[in-house]
Amino acid sequence: MSTLQGRTALVTGGSRGIGRGISRRLAAEGALVAVHYGSNDAAAKDTVAAIEAAGGRAFAVRAELGADSGADTVIRAVAAGLQERTGRAHLDILVNNASVADSGGGIATETPDAFDRLFAVNVRAPFFLIQQALPLMGQGGRIVNIGSGVTRIALPGELAYAMTKAAMETLTRNAANELGARGITVNTVAPGPTRTETTAVFYDRPEAQAMIAAGQALERVGTPEDIAAVVAFLAGDDSGWLTANVIDATGGTYLGPKRLG
Ligand code: NAP
Repeated sequence: MSTLQGRTALVTGGSRGIGRGISRRLAAEGALVAVHYGSNDAAAKDTVAAIEAAGGRAFAVRAELGADSGADTVIRAVAAGLQERTGRAHLDILVNNASVADSGGGIATETPDAFDRLFAVNVRAPFFLIQQALPLMGQGGRIVNIGSGVTRIALPGELAYAMTKAAMETLTRNAANELGARGITVNTVAPGPTRTETTAVFYDRPEAQAMIAAGQALERVGTPEDIAAVVAFLAGDDSGWLTANVIDATGGTYLGPKRLG
């Protein structure tokens, strides 16, 4: 695999879960990957070490995303890291993956603080990351936003989170239209239930697996590698004619009844 040889990539939240899978896959394809994370130094170190052990190139970038977006800190560190390793601060691929999940429930129970935090990390930060990454991208490039299948269903307990992911779909469509003239494509990948270090406690339970199998065409929990494969395709040359899309990567979740009667 070397479809991204010579390319550079930034994966936000690239240290754990789906982001780690994406970082590892892009590096395996040949890209130099900036593995961004918020606070877990050990996880970031492990991810960079795993990439290097497999023969790839990566460096870690620590910056909390939130109310002040954190985008400027991330982009400055990425530019410096790329300059140091390649002799120029040029970014080919931006993957907006970092996000926080909802714990507030529905419209009756969500708090203003939790609502603001969700929008600060999941919407405001990626918006300004795109804005500030653009000078590093120049002509051509790939932006991949990680959304969620929850935007097309009404899942209990995930209202405000689902709203942030719907905002990312709107951002994707508009940014694609604005940046197309520069040869930059912008797409969203929308995962469904995906087993990570954090979600394994829930998805490893037989009841959870039975519930997922009943509501999904492919009848299994997804993996970070499933999502990373879709992102790698969107990051590469073969996807050059795709922009402004929301790619459903849920294994066919909640498509409708499997049989009638
Ligand atoms: P995760 O395992 O919780 O990992 C989150 C990553 O984002 C970590 O690298 C974390 O860094 C970083 N991060 C989180 N908040 C941050 C902040 N405020 N500032 C800076 N970094 C921050 O996440 P995941 O489950 O893999 O999800 C990845 C993406 O897929 C998200 O966009 C999520 O909405 C989407 N998704 C996931 C699922 C699923 O089932 N897992 C389903 C649908 C969509 P630290 O560890 O250092 O804090």
